[in-house]
Amino acid sequence: MPTGEEDVVADLVRANRILANEGVLDAFGHISARDPARPDTFLLSRALSPGQVQRADIMRFDLEGNVLEGDAKPYLERVIHAAVYAIRPDVGSVVHHHAPAVLPFTVAPAPLRPVIHLGAVAGGDCPVWDSQDEFGDTSLLVDSLAMAASLARALGDRPSCLLARHGALCVGPSIRQTTFIAVCMRDNAEVLSAALRLGRPSYLSDGEIVQAAARHDGGAPVERAWSFWSSRAA
Ligand SMILES: [Zn+2]
Repeated sequence: MPTGEEDVVADLVRANRILANEGVLDAFGHISARDPARPDTFLLSRALSPGQVQRADIMRFDLEGNVLEGDAKPYLERVIHAAVYAIRPDVGSVVHHHAPAVLPFTVAPAPLRPVIHLGAVAGGDCPVWDSQDEFGDTSLLVDSLAMAASLARALGDRPSCLLARHGALCVGPSIRQTTFIAVCMRDNAEVLSAALRLGRPSYLSDGEIVQAAARHDGGAPVERAWSFWSSRAA
């Protein structure tokens, strides 16, 4: 598990490559990490497609999204990361993505619930935050602290949340765990969409979700997946 800033930056760059290679992030979306040495700050690439991110692209921000280090153009939606870190001291990494497999669940009434054991790491009932409720007609981009704070409140203490007609948010204690959650959320959404076309899916029970999530909460399974996805993204 990385601890120093150098290792965190290395993992963050790797996570960008992995999530791009696995089809969770594409031209858009981003992953950040809280700096364990300066927990009131977080690290995030400059505005760039994740598959192109390198070490020199990583910038530092405070928990209102202000730039502390770096002079490049930042992502507009960096405030999402800031708002989550501000109210979730347990969170060490945040990813905002628009994975195509997940998007149907941001526009259709079917809830995104775990139907496969690895899907449990993204949580049980995944809330859907709708910017329309508080902010009316917008571009749907979460580009203000007020919108980001509202989204963070909808996330609550969960590992994931959907953004209506937009995308998803996944959070976890580490870069590797958050990467794991995002890929597993995508896989679960793919299976669930296919199952819904065949009939009524068999969802995990609440008890199964708790046990399956605990079994894959860091440790060997996450390290194995990280190693595999790293080798594919090299
Ligand atoms: Zn977005």
